[in-house]
Amino acid sequence: MRKIEQRVRFCKLILLVFILGIIVFLVRYKKDSGKWYTQPFNKNLYSGSGELLTGTLTDRYGTILSGVDDGYRYYSGLPLVRTATLHTVGDRNNKIGTGALTNLRDYLVPYNSRKGASAISDRGNEVRLSIAADACVTAYTALDGKAGCIGVYNYKTGEILCLVSAPSYDPNNVPEDIETNEAYDGIYVNRFFHSVYAPGSVFKTLTLQAALEMIPDAASRTYVCEGSVKVGDNTVTCPQKHGKLTLSDAYAVSCNCVFSQLAVEIGGDKMTEYVRKAGLTSSYKIHGISTAKGSFELASSTVNRLGWGGVGLYHDLVNPCSLMIYYGAIANGGKAALPTYLYEVIDQKDRRLDIPETQFTSELVSPDTAASLRIYMKNNMAKSYDSTRFPNVPIGAKSGTVEQQTGKSNSWFAGFIDSEEYPYAFVVFVEHGGSGSRVAGDIAAKVLNTLIAVP
Ligand SMILES: [Zn+2]
Repeated sequence: MRKIEQRVRFCKLILLVFILGIIVFLVRYKKDSGKWYTQPFNKNLYSGSGELLTGTLTDRYGTILSGVDDGYRYYSGLPLVRTATLHTVGDRNNKIGTGALTNLRDYLVPYNSRKGASAISDRGNEVRLSIAADACVTAYTALDGKAGCIGVYNYKTGEILCLVSAPSYDPNNVPEDIETNEAYDGIYVNRFFHSVYAPGSVFKTLTLQAALEMIPDAASRTYVCEGSVKVGDNTVTCPQKHGKLTLSDAYAVSCNCVFSQLAVEIGGDKMTEYVRKAGLTSSYKIHGISTAKGSFELASSTVNRLGWGGVGLYHDLVNPCSLMIYYGAIANGGKAALPTYLYEVIDQKDRRLDIPETQFTSELVSPDTAASLRIYMKNNMAKSYDSTRFPNVPIGAKSGTVEQQTGKSNSWFAGFIDSEEYPYAFVVFVEHGGSGSRVAGDIAAKVLNTLIAVP
């Protein structure tokens, strides 16, 4: 009898474990089956080479960027649209990690837990990206064969309106020498999200921010630039003698002598704190993408290096997307929306599906200082940059020109539109482009003009 009782108890225990296992499975099935379903090992959804065989991607105005026809994935009919949007849409072999075909696949696949594979069609769900294809083409064309990246986004809603990384290629005509030709180095990298570069003078905005808060009379002093100045045990130089300057003048002419001395006066520890607070050393999560973190050595530098660091010309590195968000925060009173390229999702029955709400950064800049920085940045447009190139909207900006050993400088132009109608922040970076305000500034003007001309 005792043996039988023991066996009954054992059987009950096994039954209990089995039932618990079933319950855990059902809960996870309910919660995660959609995600399991869209994994690349599902052969109902992916071709042998890993292409997603359902779902349509369009730009914000409904222009098709990629769809599926008769079980075959196709791209836009226009080579320039295919090339300019490739790093946002994604390639056929999933080598570009930032593409929507990979990162938004949970939205593209019309998953239905009851119908399973029979719910799948060529069209799938229609995912509208927030980018405007024509602005991307303008940006890519304006780069004129140079490497670089361009981002424009709405700092109130987070929608990315233009996103281009170059070099790029036409996914319908992949260059045969793509793996061996130097011109295609880093072609699968989306430079906007994943590269870091020396910031040069676009970093002076952060030094200005710290100076306004840490040095009480910074804005009322008169500065003098002799063309070079001893900072610590070495000199810091300007391309020319700027003479007598207000702080606003010094920022507009991008005076290294003034800004290196301000950085030293603020101190390495405080400068580091400001860089961290501004989000320039953070990684932002955008869909499945983690942006590259910037790196700064201001606190551990010698005095001279801290001086060069304050003008963005030491070893420090910044990611273009983080810089765009920082300028968005200045425009938006201290906090900015986090960027997204997902605009809306329409299912196969033309119903609009829920997408995540806009997320915001922490306070990157105090509201009062952000208001002052907007005035300084708009003054740059009036004093230093050819504002006739820009649309008839108030723009604040800062350029940067970073000398390279090759002799041709890297160019930056970053800023914002101070407008309720067009609340856009932007960053343009061109490798070996030349002058920041001229080359990168021209590209920014062309892209913003295209975005504002769209109905
Ligand atoms: Zn100077």
